[in-house]
This record gives sequence, C-alpha cells and structure tokens, in this order.
Amino acid sequence: MKIAEIRTHLLDVALETPFESASMRFSRRQHVLVEVICDDGTIGWGECLGPAAPNAAVVAAYAPHLIGRDPLATEVIWQDMYNLLRDQGQRGLTMTALSGIDIALWDIKGKRFGVPVSVLLGGRVRETVRAYATGGFRRDGVDRVTDNAEDCARHVAQGFHAVKIKIGFDVAEDLAVIRAVREAIGPDARLMIDANHGYSVGEALALGRQAAEYGIDWFEEPVIPEHLSGYAEVRAGQPIPVAGGETWHGRFGFAEPLARRVIDIAQPDLCGSGGFTETRRIADMCALHGIRLVPHVWGTGVQIAAALQFVAALLPDPPRRAPLAPILEYDRTHNPFRQAVLTRPLEPEAGVFTIPDAPGLGIEINRDALREFAPRA
Ligand code: CA
Repeated sequence: MKIAEIRTHLLDVALETPFESASMRFSRRQHVLVEVICDDGTIGWGECLGPAAPNAAVVAAYAPHLIGRDPLATEVIWQDMYNLLRDQGQRGLTMTALSGIDIALWDIKGKRFGVPVSVLLGGRVRETVRAYATGGFRRDGVDRVTDNAEDCARHVAQGFHAVKIKIGFDVAEDLAVIRAVREAIGPDARLMIDANHGYSVGEALALGRQAAEYGIDWFEEPVIPEHLSGYAEVRAGQPIPVAGGETWHGRFGFAEPLARRVIDIAQPDLCGSGGFTETRRIADMCALHGIRLVPHVWGTGVQIAAALQFVAALLPDPPRRAPLAPILEYDRTHNPFRQAVLTRPLEPEAGVFTIPDAPGLGIEINRDALREFAPRA
C-alpha cells in the first residue's frame, strides 16, 4: 500500500448574515478537506483548521514528499513533514496543513485494519459524548444582547447541557450579554465565555471578576495567545477557570502553557495541533500536568468525526468511579456544508453525539456537496 495522490477540496459559501468574534469577521465560511488516495484505491480524509486556500498551498508543498510512501507510517511521515518546514514552520499553516494530512493517514490506517481510529488510539472508553453549543457571535443588524439570549435559550431547549458565547468586544456590553444569557438559559445549564483574545489583561480581569457570579465554567482565550504572562495574570487574578490552546500548535506549542499552568482547560484542535499523531502526545502532556482537555472544533463533519474518534479514546483523568467525561465543541452558526459533506450527518441528539464505530473516521464523503460548495471561479 502506497500513497498515490493527495488532493485538496476547497469549500466556500457566502453568509446571508455576516457575524463577528472579537478578532474576526465572517462573511463567508471557507474550509478545506484533504483527500489522500492510495494505490489500492483506499482513500483517507482529513481537514485543516484555518484559511482554506493557504492551507491547500501548504498541503501541496508537502505532497511530493509523500507520494510512493507507506501511509501506515504515520509517526515517520509526521516527523518528516515537520522537519521539512521546521526552520520556517513550527506553528501556523505548516502545522494546520500537516494536521489535515495526518488525519487522512489515520483514516486510511483504520480502513486498512477495519477498525475505527479510536481503537487504533488504544480503545474506546465511551460510545457517546456530550456536545456544547458554540454560538453567541455578534451578528449584523440585530441587538446582540437579545439575540444571544434567544440563541442560547434555543440551544438549551434542544437538549444541549452547555452553551458558549462570544465576548471580548466591550466589557460593559459583554457583561450585559452574559447576564441576559444566564437569565435566558436558567440556573442549571452550563455557560462558557470566549473572548477570542480580544481583551487586554486589565479588561480580562475586570470582566472575569464581574462575570463570575453568573456561574461560568471557563473563560476562553482572554488575551492574545502569545502573551503567556498575561494568561497567568488573568488566571491568578479572577475566579473563572481559564481555557485556551486552539492556536498553540503541536507539543512544543503546548509545553510552556502547560508547564507554567496558565490554563485550567487545554483546547487543542485535531485539525491544527498536528492531527491524531501529535494531539495524543498533547493529551499525555495535559495528564502529566493535571489539566483538562476539551478539543476545539470549528469546521466540517470531517473535523467533527476526527474529534469524536479522539475523545472516544481519551482516558479518564483522574480515573475514578464516575470520572469527568470529556465534552465536545459543536459550532451552531450557519454553515450549510458542515453536514452536507457527509453522506450521513454527524449531529448530536438532545445534545449528545454517538461516536461512529465504522473503520477509520467512520464517515463517507458526499462528493456532490464538494462540487456544490467548491469556490466559483
Ligand atoms: Ca474559541
């Protein structure tokens, strides 16, 4: 079995209602899938986190180095790809592109042995996982406070045990949103807040101290991800647990945040942090430091499938009679190709995902959707 060809599939759709986080404006949804084709006809699928066309360009740069190689040699290939661009890489697109390829290789490996990736990772600890609903962006043309409150109440009514909303715009307005959302979802639903690194340290401290009374499970990306001392100040100076990690790619990206304990919850993204090969190492590092891991997910059904396989095999930490189970991020913003790329959508029922047990990622790709959502020239 040899790798014969590597393709990328760009997906693109214009949004009717653009929306914003503190750091980014979305007027389109754009993602990229990676297809690795073997000489025996086996095909593996992966996805890269982040901008579609630049990721596709980096995948194309890796591809000539992979043709003719054994797709089962995931560790060896990972190391070679990382070394290839190490001097100018280490983080960012070099890692997100590598992640998409690595996930596709694990999909192939699972299909080769007839088992889901979670079995290759060491075995399934669980067959289901609870999802939390990510929404609460600032949408054009609507009042942010009432829009967020209604949106979150809808998610909870659909069965989600937890919702996450976007802050990082303005401390006073953000607090008004948090208050309204807590009132709308009632006292029992879990609530998380994500600043998308929009705050200064001082603003994050002020927000955290005032928001704590609304029962917040975590405060995500309070400050820019490069500013680890700022993270440490925020963690020490306000009562809400701090989460982060969607931009700390690879084990080296996580080493210092974990060792310095600047977070309570680590959020590596399978499609950004080096695929299964590297993210399992990050999980070991989290266990080493006693830090909870909750994967970041922001993409299509391929990314959801990868995250599901990963959490299926995530060991309880600490092990006990009723261990704290992992949860999975589920983006509830408008994205028509999120599920369309799969022949069978991966959607939670009453807020709970059933983890696929078919070989590899356990999914099949709907090629009609890849054509339908290909960028128009
Ligand atoms: Ca986030």
